[in-house]
Amino acid sequence: MRIVSQLLLSILTLNNKNVLAMALWPFVIYKDKKTSENAVIRNHEKIHHRQQIELLILPFYIWYFIEYWVGMFKCKFKHEIAYRNISFEMEAYDQERNMDYLKHRPYFSSWKYFKIKIKKNAKRT
Ligand SMILES: [Zn+2]
Repeated sequence: MRIVSQLLLSILTLNNKNVLAMALWPFVIYKDKKTSENAVIRNHEKIHHRQQIELLILPFYIWYFIEYWVGMFKCKFKHEIAYRNISFEMEAYDQERNMDYLKHRPYFSSWKYFKIKIKKNAKRT
């Protein structure tokens, strides 16, 4: 369900101006109408909805914020690096231009990205 509200998005993101949209199942909140019509952004948010559904919503957000905060501590509080290294975001950014992705996406595909992230981090240490 689409909601276009810059105010709501500002409140939910603590006024982060870089956020264009946010998937809060069953809603997607978009910054403006133009953003809500962007096929790539819509696909990105639909991927998050699929991730949220398969983790029964609440565990998704718990896992998401754990990964975010672990990332924040690891990269010395650089938001963009921590955010882009969340396995759910890695999958969504990797597949957002693949408009058929959700038609053939295997269940729990985020797990694949989580494993990639763990392997990448293991190589660094
Ligand atoms: Zn995202």
